[in-house]
Amino acid sequence: MSNSIFKDIPENFEAMCKFSEAYAKKTGTYFCLDVSVTAVVIEGLAKHKDIYGAPLCPCRHYDDKIKEVSNAYWNCPCVPMRERKECHCMLFLAKESEFASNNQEIESKDLIKSIQ
Ligand code: SF4
Repeated sequence: MSNSIFKDIPENFEAMCKFSEAYAKKTGTYFCLDVSVTAVVIEGLAKHKDIYGAPLCPCRHYDDKIKEVSNAYWNCPCVPMRERKECHCMLFLAKESEFASNNQEIESKDLIKSIQ
C-alpha cells in the first residue's frame, strides 16, 4: 500500500497525539482498547483547535462553541478530568476500566488508519 495517505498528518492532530501521550503518562491513565475511539476523539480535539484555537471537548453538544472555548471548562483536559480524572470521551481511562489498554503511547499513523 502506498504511504501517501499518511504523509500529511495535520499539525494539530499530531500535536493532540503528543499532548494525549504526555497527559496519559502524567495522570496514570491509559488509551482505549479500541484504537478508533482514541482516534475519533483526537480528531475532534484537533478540529476544534484548528477552528477555535482550543481543543474543546468533542463529545458534547454546545449551543455556542466560541463562548465555550472562552469559558475553558471543556477545553481538554477539562475540569472533570483535571479534578477527578473523569474523561467521558474515553480518551483517558483508569487502569481498572474494562476498556483500558496497556498503552500510554500512540502512533498518529495508526490512529488515522483506524478511522479511514
Ligand atoms: Fe478531554 Fe475532558 Fe473531553 Fe476527555 S472529557 S477528551 S479529558 S475534554
